[in-house]
Amino acid sequence: MMKTTKRAASAALCFLILAAAAQGQQYDLVLKGGRVIDPKNGIDGILDVAVRDGRIAAVAASINVVQARRVVDVTGLIVAPGLIDIHAHMFHTTGQADAWAGDSSIAPDSFGPRSCTTTMVDAGSSGWRNFETFRHTVIDRAKTRSLAMINIAGLGMMTDVAEQADFNPEEVARLALKHKDVVVGVKSAHYQKPDWVSVDKAIEAGTKAKIPVMVDFGFFLPERPYYELVGKRLRPGDISTHCFRGPVPVVDEKGKLYSYLLDARKRGVKFDVGHGGGSFVFRNALPAVQQGFYPDSISTDLHTGSMNAGMIDMVNTMSKFMAMGMPMAELIKASTWNPANEIKRAELGHLSVGAVADIAVLRIEEGKFGLLDGFRGRLNTTKRLGCELTVRDGAVAWDWNGRAGTDYLSLGPTLGNRPADVVVRPK
Ligand SMILES: [Zn+2]
Repeated sequence: MMKTTKRAASAALCFLILAAAAQGQQYDLVLKGGRVIDPKNGIDGILDVAVRDGRIAAVAASINVVQARRVVDVTGLIVAPGLIDIHAHMFHTTGQADAWAGDSSIAPDSFGPRSCTTTMVDAGSSGWRNFETFRHTVIDRAKTRSLAMINIAGLGMMTDVAEQADFNPEEVARLALKHKDVVVGVKSAHYQKPDWVSVDKAIEAGTKAKIPVMVDFGFFLPERPYYELVGKRLRPGDISTHCFRGPVPVVDEKGKLYSYLLDARKRGVKFDVGHGGGSFVFRNALPAVQQGFYPDSISTDLHTGSMNAGMIDMVNTMSKFMAMGMPMAELIKASTWNPANEIKRAELGHLSVGAVADIAVLRIEEGKFGLLDGFRGRLNTTKRLGCELTVRDGAVAWDWNGRAGTDYLSLGPTLGNRPADVVVRPK
């Protein structure tokens, strides 16, 4: 008798939970009252965002929060998909510190959450000789979603100069297919010879593995002009990173945007910022933005050099484009939905119901600010973005103002009831 009653009670409870879930009230987290900008879905308005089981459960006005486990007031803030940085350097376990980006890499979790970045793509720090080490030691251990482009050069960026003899399109393609859950592209970079071998071999690998190529043209030589790279060599969908680097011809002597850039864009070539330590100048970026030539994707080229110089982080790089006049919706698109498409991960970069709950909550700060490019060129501005809160896979991963916390006095006197807490508790 007793057993039956218990079973009935448990069935009734199950029913209640299911009914509550069906009504959309059983949420793990609700971000309430923010300006939701979700370019993929054409959303820009004051809405709530609800999360359940690591997924976006609802995006609507005035979501009922009666049964939500946690409600966070984000009034006055921008709620966007988690930022996607497709040019970062994360092979930090190489243990060397005096070479190029591959060796001045950053651990994804030590940098991603605090800059509202939930997906980071390593842009060729590892090559076909050491990619699997990179995967085992970094990619598989990070909570921040970590993806990679494999360098056409064997050791990636562990050596200063990429050498032809070490380019291996077959191996790069084989590894890309074997690790297609995390490999999203092929990288060509730091090649100093006056020919196209690095670019061509990278494209050969990209064609074999059906993935895009990202090119850091680096050294500009008359034998291989930039207009030929974006106008002829790159395939539709391939990415030119460092697109506002000093030597890139962006405007003519009258300040007018070169038309070859528009032709290349029409052909399907993607233009990526890849700010880095010395690969972004306002002198090029500002006239381009003012003439409506926005980058397809905003990215950092993150490494110890750039993060401690003018670049700083993803949000600061976005602030520069905001200061140059790029509309907010375009800014968010270039940091979420566009890069997701460039790396062929259409499941990322938006807040559709059912999508993974990777969310960036940004604040707009007002005051007197200065933003630096790669050559200490300063642009003054009165508005700047900051990362207020990051949700990764449904969990709060960064919380600048403790918005997801509780007034400490309401937590009670036992500080969590764990013996260790009692021992360290002050008298
Ligand atoms: Zn780079």
